[in-house]
Amino acid sequence: MARSALFILLFFATNASLSLLYPFSFSHILLAISLYALGTGVMLYLLFNPRNQWLVTNRSQVEQEGCVALTFDDGPDPVDTPRLLDLLREKNVKATFFVVGQRAERHPEIVRRAWEEGHLIANHTWSHPPLFCFLLPRRLRAEIERGTECINRICGVRTRYFRSPVGLRHPLLRSALEREGLEFISWRIRSCDTIIKKSDSLARHILNHVASRDIILMHDRLPNGTHVLFEALPGVIDELKRRGFKFVLAGDRETACGDTE
Ligand SMILES: [Zn+2]
Repeated sequence: MARSALFILLFFATNASLSLLYPFSFSHILLAISLYALGTGVMLYLLFNPRNQWLVTNRSQVEQEGCVALTFDDGPDPVDTPRLLDLLREKNVKATFFVVGQRAERHPEIVRRAWEEGHLIANHTWSHPPLFCFLLPRRLRAEIERGTECINRICGVRTRYFRSPVGLRHPLLRSALEREGLEFISWRIRSCDTIIKKSDSLARHILNHVASRDIILMHDRLPNGTHVLFEALPGVIDELKRRGFKFVLAGDRETACGDTE
């Protein structure tokens, strides 16, 4: 809570620094702009860096050496997620799905299938608000709670894991997650499946960076479709297997099952 208060203080202090502009002079303008830029830079770093631990503790690796964890955000998608599940079954690979509550509610059978086939289902908020870091406290709590409740309704389990949209932080996220008993899962490898347009470049990007224990961020739902990722993924999985990696979940299914209220 002290860090949340410090962050909010930084926000007000940064904005208050603009008052140093008056009376106008070169030195006043330079000082005000420097302080404003510094404060804004620190806040952006704290809110946007996916592995920053300051506002909320998070994990970007799995414990087991020689393993990697594939994670898929933003689904379920009625077409692409079942295709992905078919591929994962064919390759005998388990993965972690960070589902958006509203979409899960529209396609519960897909989420249930993923859970029943041994994958891990985790909370990616209720509606995936793009400006997650600016949500009012009540909306922040509702986004997290409704996401958890939705998974509970569909799979009969209470998830223990959370990832925010784009990994964004929020000054009050630590306390909101503690109240819900959720752990923030980040990533070490961003696949860049949202921007890379060629499957061989995408595969190369992942394979050139991946190391033991890495959690890899991918998407099973994208505005322009997931065909590039799905073209790359079979080869990526085969190559990771050839290098001796084992595929594990980003969290623990046993503890996820703990509370079915
Ligand atoms: Zn997302």
